[in-house]
Amino acid sequence: MTRLFTESTLVIASHNPGKVREFGDLLARFDVRVVSASDLGLEQPIEDGKTFAANAELKARAAAKAANLPALADDSGLAVAALGGDPGIYSARWAGPEKDFGEAMRKLEAALRGQDDRRAKFVCALALCWPNGETGGHLEAFEGAVSGSLVWPPRGDNGFGYDPVFVADGYDLTFGEMDPDKKHQISHRADAFRKLVDACFR
Ligand code: IMP
Repeated sequence: MTRLFTESTLVIASHNPGKVREFGDLLARFDVRVVSASDLGLEQPIEDGKTFAANAELKARAAAKAANLPALADDSGLAVAALGGDPGIYSARWAGPEKDFGEAMRKLEAALRGQDDRRAKFVCALALCWPNGETGGHLEAFEGAVSGSLVWPPRGDNGFGYDPVFVADGYDLTFGEMDPDKKHQISHRADAFRKLVDACFR
Protein backbone atom coordinates (compact mmCIF):
# COMPACT_ATOMS: atom_id res chain seq x y z
CA MET A 1 0.00 0.00 0.00
CA THR A 2 1.21 3.49 -0.71
CA ARG A 3 0.31 6.40 1.54
CA LEU A 4 -0.23 9.85 0.06
CA PHE A 5 1.69 12.77 1.48
CA THR A 6 -0.88 15.39 2.55
CA GLU A 7 0.96 17.23 5.34
CA SER A 8 2.39 20.73 5.05
CA THR A 9 5.89 20.13 6.46
CA LEU A 10 8.45 17.58 5.41
CA VAL A 11 11.78 16.88 7.09
CA ILE A 12 14.65 16.17 4.75
CA ALA A 13 16.56 13.60 6.76
CA SER A 14 20.01 14.69 5.67
CA HIS A 15 22.86 16.80 7.01
CA ASN A 16 24.34 17.15 3.53
CA PRO A 17 23.67 20.72 2.32
CA GLY A 18 24.08 19.63 -1.33
CA LYS A 19 21.32 17.05 -1.02
CA VAL A 20 19.04 19.32 1.01
CA ARG A 21 19.37 21.99 -1.69
CA GLU A 22 18.53 19.49 -4.44
CA PHE A 23 15.45 18.24 -2.58
CA GLY A 24 14.34 21.83 -1.96
CA ASP A 25 14.54 22.42 -5.72
CA LEU A 26 12.73 19.20 -6.57
CA LEU A 27 9.94 19.92 -4.06
CA ALA A 28 9.55 23.58 -5.01
CA ARG A 29 6.45 22.89 -7.13
CA PHE A 30 4.59 21.37 -4.17
CA ASP A 31 3.06 23.35 -1.37
CA VAL A 32 5.39 21.86 1.23
CA ARG A 33 7.58 23.52 3.82
CA VAL A 34 10.90 21.76 3.84
CA VAL A 35 13.11 21.62 6.93
CA SER A 36 16.36 19.73 7.18
CA ALA A 37 17.60 17.39 9.88
CA SER A 38 20.38 19.88 10.61
CA ASP A 39 17.86 22.75 10.98
CA LEU A 40 16.14 20.65 13.66
CA GLY A 41 19.40 19.54 15.28
CA LEU A 42 18.57 15.85 14.76
CA GLU A 43 21.22 13.23 15.35
CA GLN A 44 22.46 11.20 12.42
CA PRO A 45 21.65 7.50 12.83
CA ILE A 46 24.32 4.90 12.17
CA GLU A 47 23.99 3.81 8.55
CA ASP A 48 24.49 0.09 8.95
CA GLY A 49 22.11 -1.08 6.21
CA LYS A 50 23.46 -3.34 3.49
CA THR A 51 21.62 -1.63 0.64
CA PHE A 52 20.79 1.92 -0.44
CA ALA A 53 17.09 1.24 0.29
CA ALA A 54 17.78 -0.10 3.80
CA ASN A 55 19.90 2.94 4.67
CA ALA A 56 17.33 5.37 3.29
CA GLU A 57 14.62 3.69 5.33
CA LEU A 58 16.53 3.77 8.59
CA LYS A 59 17.37 7.47 8.12
CA ALA A 60 13.75 8.39 7.30
CA ARG A 61 12.42 6.37 10.26
CA ALA A 62 14.87 7.94 12.72
CA ALA A 63 14.14 11.51 11.57
CA ALA A 64 10.34 11.04 11.48
CA LYS A 65 10.34 9.65 15.00
CA ALA A 66 12.69 12.31 16.42
CA ALA A 67 10.92 15.25 14.73
CA ASN A 68 7.39 13.83 14.99
CA LEU A 69 6.93 14.85 11.38
CA PRO A 70 7.00 12.94 8.10
CA ALA A 71 10.54 12.61 6.79
CA LEU A 72 12.14 11.95 3.45
CA ALA A 73 15.58 10.37 3.28
CA ASP A 74 17.83 9.35 0.49
CA ASP A 75 20.77 7.08 0.40
CA SER A 76 22.87 7.40 -2.65
CA GLY A 77 26.25 6.76 -4.04
CA LEU A 78 28.45 5.99 -6.96
CA ALA A 79 28.73 2.40 -8.20
CA VAL A 80 31.76 1.79 -10.41
CA ALA A 81 31.56 -1.23 -12.72
CA ALA A 82 35.29 -2.09 -12.68
CA LEU A 83 35.29 -1.94 -8.86
CA GLY A 84 32.41 -4.37 -8.49
CA GLY A 85 30.00 -1.58 -7.53
CA ASP A 86 32.29 0.20 -5.05
CA PRO A 87 32.29 2.69 -3.44
CA GLY A 88 28.47 2.13 -3.51
CA ILE A 89 26.88 2.51 -0.09
CA TYR A 90 30.31 3.57 1.21
CA SER A 91 30.62 6.55 -1.16
CA ALA A 92 30.53 9.14 1.61
CA ARG A 93 32.98 7.16 3.73
CA TRP A 94 35.60 7.17 0.96
CA ALA A 95 35.90 10.90 1.65
CA GLY A 96 37.01 10.23 5.24
CA PRO A 97 36.00 12.11 8.40
CA GLU A 98 37.03 15.42 6.80
CA LYS A 99 34.55 14.77 3.94
CA ASP A 100 37.34 15.50 1.49
CA PHE A 101 35.90 14.56 -1.91
CA GLY A 102 39.07 15.70 -3.69
CA GLU A 103 40.74 12.87 -1.81
CA ALA A 104 37.86 10.45 -2.53
CA MET A 105 38.10 11.19 -6.27
CA ARG A 106 41.89 10.67 -6.20
CA LYS A 107 41.35 7.36 -4.40
CA LEU A 108 38.85 6.35 -7.08
CA GLU A 109 41.26 7.28 -9.85
CA ALA A 110 44.06 5.32 -8.17
CA ALA A 111 41.80 2.26 -7.87
CA LEU A 112 41.00 2.54 -11.60
CA ARG A 113 44.59 3.00 -12.77
CA GLY A 114 45.24 0.81 -15.82
CA GLN A 115 41.51 0.12 -16.26
CA ASP A 116 39.83 0.87 -19.61
CA ASP A 117 36.36 0.28 -18.21
CA ARG A 118 35.30 3.65 -16.81
CA ARG A 119 31.56 2.88 -16.53
CA ALA A 120 29.82 4.07 -13.38
CA LYS A 121 26.35 4.92 -12.22
CA PHE A 122 24.92 7.08 -9.51
CA VAL A 123 22.17 5.30 -7.57
CA CYS A 124 19.61 6.84 -5.25
CA ALA A 125 17.03 5.20 -2.99
CA LEU A 126 14.36 7.34 -1.37
CA ALA A 127 12.27 6.56 1.67
CA LEU A 128 9.30 8.51 2.97
CA CYS A 129 8.28 7.70 6.51
CA TRP A 130 5.71 8.96 9.00
CA PRO A 131 6.24 9.24 12.80
CA ASN A 132 4.15 6.11 13.37
CA GLY A 133 6.61 4.12 11.26
CA GLU A 134 4.38 3.92 8.21
CA THR A 135 6.24 4.27 4.92
CA GLY A 136 5.21 5.69 1.56
CA GLY A 137 5.21 2.27 -0.05
CA HIS A 138 7.56 -0.44 -1.19
CA LEU A 139 10.91 1.17 -0.67
CA GLU A 140 12.73 -0.61 -3.46
CA ALA A 141 10.24 1.00 -5.84
CA PHE A 142 11.73 4.42 -5.20
CA GLU A 143 15.16 3.72 -6.59
CA GLY A 144 16.69 5.74 -9.40
CA ALA A 145 19.92 5.64 -11.35
CA VAL A 146 21.87 7.56 -13.98
CA SER A 147 24.52 5.75 -16.01
CA GLY A 148 27.70 7.34 -17.25
CA SER A 149 31.47 7.19 -17.09
CA LEU A 150 34.30 8.59 -15.03
CA VAL A 151 36.75 11.19 -16.29
CA TRP A 152 40.05 12.48 -14.93
CA PRO A 153 40.98 15.15 -13.89
CA PRO A 154 37.88 16.48 -12.08
CA ARG A 155 36.03 19.29 -13.90
CA GLY A 156 33.62 21.94 -12.60
CA ASP A 157 32.61 23.49 -9.28
CA ASN A 158 28.86 22.82 -9.31
CA GLY A 159 27.15 20.08 -7.36
CA PHE A 160 28.91 18.07 -4.68
CA GLY A 161 30.65 14.78 -3.96
CA TYR A 162 31.83 12.95 -7.09
CA ASP A 163 30.07 15.31 -9.54
CA PRO A 164 33.32 16.68 -11.07
CA VAL A 165 34.40 13.22 -12.35
CA PHE A 166 31.03 11.92 -13.60
CA VAL A 167 29.75 12.37 -17.16
CA ALA A 168 26.25 11.01 -17.80
CA ASP A 169 25.74 8.95 -20.97
CA GLY A 170 24.86 11.20 -23.90
CA TYR A 171 26.50 14.31 -22.36
CA ASP A 172 29.97 15.90 -22.53
CA LEU A 173 29.91 18.01 -19.38
CA THR A 174 30.58 16.52 -15.96
CA PHE A 175 27.84 16.95 -13.34
CA GLY A 176 30.25 19.47 -11.79
CA GLU A 177 30.15 21.58 -14.97
CA MET A 178 26.48 21.09 -15.79
CA ASP A 179 23.87 23.67 -14.94
CA PRO A 180 22.23 22.44 -11.69
CA ASP A 181 18.76 22.61 -13.30
CA LYS A 182 19.93 20.21 -15.99
CA LYS A 183 21.46 17.84 -13.46
CA HIS A 184 18.20 17.87 -11.51
CA GLN A 185 16.35 16.71 -14.62
CA ILE A 186 18.54 13.72 -15.33
CA SER A 187 20.07 12.70 -11.99
CA HIS A 188 19.56 9.46 -10.08
CA ARG A 189 17.81 11.56 -7.41
CA ALA A 190 15.42 13.02 -10.00
CA ASP A 191 14.70 9.51 -11.32
CA ALA A 192 13.93 8.19 -7.83
CA PHE A 193 12.01 11.35 -7.00
CA ARG A 194 9.73 10.94 -10.03
CA LYS A 195 8.83 7.44 -8.83
CA LEU A 196 8.12 8.69 -5.31
CA VAL A 197 6.05 11.64 -6.53
CA ASP A 198 4.00 9.41 -8.83
CA ALA A 199 3.19 7.18 -5.87
CA CYS A 200 2.83 9.60 -2.93
CA PHE A 201 2.27 13.22 -4.07
CA ARG A 202 -0.71 14.81 -5.85
P1 IMP B 1 24.87 9.23 1.80
O1 IMP B 1 24.65 10.50 2.55
O2 IMP B 1 25.35 8.10 2.65
O3 IMP B 1 23.73 8.86 0.93
O4 IMP B 1 26.12 9.58 0.89
C1 IMP B 1 26.05 9.56 -0.47
C2 IMP B 1 27.39 9.94 -1.03
O5 IMP B 1 27.36 9.54 -2.40
C3 IMP B 1 27.61 11.44 -1.05
O6 IMP B 1 28.32 11.90 0.05
C4 IMP B 1 28.42 11.60 -2.34
O7 IMP B 1 29.72 11.26 -2.08
C5 IMP B 1 27.87 10.53 -3.23
N1 IMP B 1 26.79 11.09 -4.06
C6 IMP B 1 25.47 10.80 -3.97
N2 IMP B 1 24.77 11.53 -4.85
C7 IMP B 1 25.67 12.28 -5.50
C8 IMP B 1 25.54 13.26 -6.53
O8 IMP B 1 24.44 13.60 -7.02
N3 IMP B 1 26.67 13.81 -6.92
C9 IMP B 1 27.88 13.49 -6.43
N4 IMP B 1 28.06 12.61 -5.47
C10 IMP B 1 26.95 12.00 -5.00
